[in-house]
Amino acid sequence: MTKEGWIEVICGGMFSGKSEELIRRIRRARIAKQNVAVFKPIVDNRYRPEAITSHNGVYTDAIVIHEAKEILEHLLQKTNVVAIDEIQFFDDSVVQVAQELADRGIRVICAGLDQDFRGTPFGPTPKLMAVAEYITKLQAICVQCGGPASRTQRLIDGKPAETDGPVIQVGASEQYEARCRHCHKVPV
Ligand code: ADP
Ligand code: ZN
Repeated sequence: MTKEGWIEVICGGMFSGKSEELIRRIRRARIAKQNVAVFKPIVDNRYRPEAITSHNGVYTDAIVIHEAKEILEHLLQKTNVVAIDEIQFFDDSVVQVAQELADRGIRVICAGLDQDFRGTPFGPTPKLMAVAEYITKLQAICVQCGGPASRTQRLIDGKPAETDGPVIQVGASEQYEARCRHCHKVPV
């Protein structure tokens, strides 16, 4: 018999459907009468702060946390599925927390960006992928050529953002687009 407890990672660029897929897995786990705890980091400033939201309009409530270790304090005895969105915004301690939960017999489902706007591995996501049992890498649609998009184009005032700009920037003139490798531009 297969023992319970493993790590799943859902990764890809922006608009690739990571949140949509995470919400789908949460919904199906609840249909199967699993006890699911849902978390997200505080930095996500999308319009619904206490929920995981997809660009397609679906959402599910989430507990907002500052650090991955807070997950341990929120778990009930009966919690057997833990879902975490926007994992790229946690520090590396999220890897240890995910491992501990999986070792305890919990199904851990993580979703997040695997690359930043420069196309470089993003935060703890690559490390989680290394220790995960299952990885789903999703692609969006490139807004320039219509092909599969593995990357996120950052635009500042409509122009490709330079490589040495900050990875996270809060500001009105900032925009993100799904693009493929060939249409993705990072000026140096
Ligand atoms: P992610 O969490 O990866 O950013 P979401 O689940 O929030 O993805 O959004 C996925 C949805 O975004 C799609 O179902 C689609 O409705 C919408 N969407 C908007 N632009 C694009 C695009 N360029 N490629 C694919 N989906 C897109
Ligand atoms: Zn393209």
